Amino acid sequence: MGALSEKQKQHLEQKLRTRLATLRDEIREALLASTEARHREIAGMVHDAADESVADLLADINLKGMDRDARELADVNAALDRLARGTLGVCRDCGGDIGLPRLEAQPAAARCIECETRREKQYAHERGPTL
Ligand SMILES: [Zn+2]
Repeated sequence: MGALSEKQKQHLEQKLRTRLATLRDEIREALLASTEARHREIAGMVHDAADESVADLLADINLKGMDRDARELADVNAALDRLARGTLGVCRDCGGDIGLPRLEAQPAAARCIECETRREKQYAHERGPTL
């Protein structure tokens, strides 16, 4: 594929990194607002930990809304990883082009709209729609 220009990639990377920073802030604030000492302890670690470790830290926390943020954090991380490997914008399921308009709206999208729609229908009973 390689349909994305350098400029588009840079733009998407910027969006992904901004989203990552926002998610970290949200996660940290939610943890700090918790009454549990363990949560506040983890909040202190969220800021400096590598992104992968943040996801790990949150994996066993059962805080409202946290699983959703942790999942999105993992999605954004995966997108940055695909960007580094040159596969951002390639659908994970069918290998087709995700398309720039969709990436502009959802830079972390891992699937084209057709595959995502099919998947959401399939998993709708298990989890809410994501990207
Ligand atoms: Zn697809």
